[in-house]
Amino acid sequence: MSLIVHKYGGTSMGSIERIKNVARRVAKWHEAGHQVVVVPSAMSGETNRLLGLAREISPNGDGRELDMLAATGEQASSALLALALQSLGVQARSYTGWQVPVRTDSSYTKARITSIDDQRIRAELDAGRVVVVTGFQGVDDDGHITTLGRGGSDTSAVAVAAALGARECLIYTDVDGVYTTDPRVVPEARRLSVISFEEMLEMASLGSKVLQIRSVEFAGKYRIPVRVLSSLTDPLIPLDEEMRSGTLITFEDDEKMEAAVVSGIAFSRDEAKITLLGVPDKPGIAYSILGPVAERNIDVDMIVQNQSVQGTTDFSFTVHRNEYNRALDVLNNVVKPAVGAREIVSDDKVCKVSIVGIGMRSHVGVASLMFRTLSEEGINIQMISTSEIKTSVLIDDKYMELAVRALHKAFGLDQTQAAA
Ligand code: ADP
Ligand code: ASP
Ligand code: MG
Repeated sequence: MSLIVHKYGGTSMGSIERIKNVARRVAKWHEAGHQVVVVPSAMSGETNRLLGLAREISPNGDGRELDMLAATGEQASSALLALALQSLGVQARSYTGWQVPVRTDSSYTKARITSIDDQRIRAELDAGRVVVVTGFQGVDDDGHITTLGRGGSDTSAVAVAAALGARECLIYTDVDGVYTTDPRVVPEARRLSVISFEEMLEMASLGSKVLQIRSVEFAGKYRIPVRVLSSLTDPLIPLDEEMRSGTLITFEDDEKMEAAVVSGIAFSRDEAKITLLGVPDKPGIAYSILGPVAERNIDVDMIVQNQSVQGTTDFSFTVHRNEYNRALDVLNNVVKPAVGAREIVSDDKVCKVSIVGIGMRSHVGVASLMFRTLSEEGINIQMISTSEIKTSVLIDDKYMELAVRALHKAFGLDQTQAAA
């Protein structure tokens, strides 16, 4: 008998028929003698619907109320799943984040989990029940409901698995694993049977929404085996077949893996670029620009400072598109008067495309193949950033799909021999 955590995403919970199928699958695991905790997302479209209603009332709504609202999606789907399990004769109970409780900080709409109390869940499991725990939500120290950012149910599931010391966290979704790139953009993309933790971390942080980045961080910190697999197969397929399907995130020594030079391509449309022209080039300038941005809890990603000409320079950086207006606000009202920049120019029609692979550590010329491929397609690179196992470029977002397809081909990812 093992303790297993299942997570089902929005599409997997998207209709009553799908919820019934989830219940059938969970019942199969329960009847095989496993203790099962299930973490569902809201039914597909529900979080967007709720946040859309809020936007109709106030475009920059108060975070506390947005979380109060958005968290209802998961409460509803969790109760529906518990009912579906009960109707199959399985004892089941659902719990919200605040009932468990899943404690978070107070950063509304992007809260971080700080701790999870496992007592109540364990007592229910010991009583033979399946426990359904809402994804995406928690509660802060003052008792306010919080949510974990879009895609946050992945993080809920892995954090619950860590708190319970689960044997495996199974992330059931609408694709049958992690692919070389989003199969919706490149139909030739291939499923990877394993991916290294480090590569998954990069892919998620660079925009592959198949897993929320923090879920991968939790998996690494607590060494939780995570498998991404399909919820759309026959729910009654044999357990051993199901346990071998999908993509396993592995912590194997990376050296031992037969590393393709590039394992995957990630992309993100959530980017915006801001440039301050003509700022005085003196010590402390980066801090005077980015300090006020950080104080407002706005994350900065790529940063470029140009060579100075006659004592002034240009300073560019990117932020998440959701935070673009807030960033411009602070730059125009606080930073520009303080540092004396000549002008601020900005563009939110940019995207970031990245190649990822641990094989890049031991190969030269990988980035240059990326640059050549993009140049052959006539795509201009606006910014570049690199780390040991990834190279990212910022480009005009109208070329995103073209860039991803061209790179997928150039790095041989649509050929089977490049499989991990
Ligand atoms: P869920 O609702 O189950 O959480 P998401 O929509 O959040 O599902 O994530 C699954 C989606 O992630 C897939 O449908 C796919 O379009 C997208 N995706 C992006 N990059 C990848 C990738 N490298 N491999 C698999 N899916 C990917
Ligand atoms: N329902 C939330 C969202 O749509 C959380 C999730 O699905 O993981 O972002
Ligand atoms: Mg998701």
